[in-house]
Amino acid sequence: MTSTDPTSVPTITLNDGHTIPQLGFGVFLVDPHEAERIVSDALEAGYRHIDTAAIYKNEEGVGRAIAASGIPREELFITTKLFNTDQGTDTAHAAIDLSLSKLGLDYVDLYLIHWPTPKRDLYLESWLALEQIRDAGKSRSIGVSNFQLDHLQRVIDGSNTVPAVNQIELHPAFSQPALRAFHRKNGIETEAWGPLGQGKYDLFDLQPIQDAAKAHDVTPAQVVLRWHLQLGNIVFPKSNSKERIAENFNLFGFELTELEMSAIDALDEGKRVGGHPDEVN
Ligand code: NAD
Repeated sequence: MTSTDPTSVPTITLNDGHTIPQLGFGVFLVDPHEAERIVSDALEAGYRHIDTAAIYKNEEGVGRAIAASGIPREELFITTKLFNTDQGTDTAHAAIDLSLSKLGLDYVDLYLIHWPTPKRDLYLESWLALEQIRDAGKSRSIGVSNFQLDHLQRVIDGSNTVPAVNQIELHPAFSQPALRAFHRKNGIETEAWGPLGQGKYDLFDLQPIQDAAKAHDVTPAQVVLRWHLQLGNIVFPKSNSKERIAENFNLFGFELTELEMSAIDALDEGKRVGGHPDEVN
């Protein structure tokens, strides 16, 4: 298998029976004017799973890249997200329609509530709207993002659907063991955003990551991404560079040992690089 073979990416079966490629491509901070080119590069490199959001303002570019690729729709997995200011019933329905029209799609594979925004106190109502959006066929699966334990418990108790995923900040310096355990217990898949620490945290110089990179003749970024995959996380690293886009897809020719995995696990410092979900409102 080559690094551009999409079938080299393992799939994970979600709690609703749909499958998701474990490795994808994220487009946070991808300039709307460059999104088409960058997503085209990612599709060419073999990625079939793209993670965007209404607030990234690049859904149109993502949609143009999808259309230009000629890749059959069923081979792609597209995620977008309901932004904080669109939480609520009518606003959520309007927001998914706008996202679909920007993407040029009839449905997305996964629609997420982007942040719980607890001060607004609209996430349960929004979740019930996402159930309707799924039932209307506009999203195959539905999930949440940046939800803490109490937010998850509230939507589980207050609806008929356990979120398929929770997309959370997660990297070796912030590996979220408690939330991951809750996810496992409740059949929720863990999606890791900022899998490389967003370049804000100096992960690549840490000794266990350096050592594993040397041992396997790969880059520190590949070690970190491989650590995610072996933990069972779904990841979608972002890069604007064609070279790094290919590098981040080339993760299937080596395996970290148990010792290497536990040395990287031990790097957890409980240190976020992004906002705290209780405080983003
Ligand atoms: P990331 O951890 O993927 O880091 C991206 C940065 O890492 C790049 O800008 C680049 O500087 C660097 N990088 C990428 N590949 C590299 C390589 N091979 N070698 C060295 N450096 C490399 O951070 P991210 O983009 O924030 O997270 C990934 C995706 O997660 C986003 O694009 C987005 O789709 C999603 N996300 C979601 C939320 C949320 O609130 N749900 C928040 C942030 C990101």
